[in-house]
Amino acid sequence: MIRPLRSLRDRAFPDLLRVEDAYDRDRVWGVATKESGLGWVLPIVAYAPVFPWAYVAVNLRLSLAAMMLVMVPAFMVVSMGAQSLAVFRFRRKLDRSIWGQLRERSVPVCIHCGYDLTGNASGVCPECGRGLGGAGGKP
Ligand SMILES: [Zn+2]
Repeated sequence: MIRPLRSLRDRAFPDLLRVEDAYDRDRVWGVATKESGLGWVLPIVAYAPVFPWAYVAVNLRLSLAAMMLVMVPAFMVVSMGAQSLAVFRFRRKLDRSIWGQLRERSVPVCIHCGYDLTGNASGVCPECGRGLGGAGGKP
């Protein structure tokens, strides 16, 4: 990974920095992106409803202005909604994968919310209230 991209990634996913070795960090990121699958496809798919509508609009012989009047706002609402949803879900998948891998490396982190569990003895995450499935840090 290129250095500026790497620092951007580490800033966006600060949990990654809990993996001390930079090479291992890249591996965690690689697994996370692989595990999160095709989440990035959804924003592209979000544009799909535009095409049938464009077909209908053309067949109704609407003027270009009338087409644009309906299409542009509809297009913006649909694509922005789907994109924010996709980004949110993709982010969630990446985070969960990173947290799971941190736990595999004995970094004490909650696999449900990413909360730092250093020194936690209760076995319950104070952030999300869920059980840890083992003492803090041990998967
Ligand atoms: Zn938690």
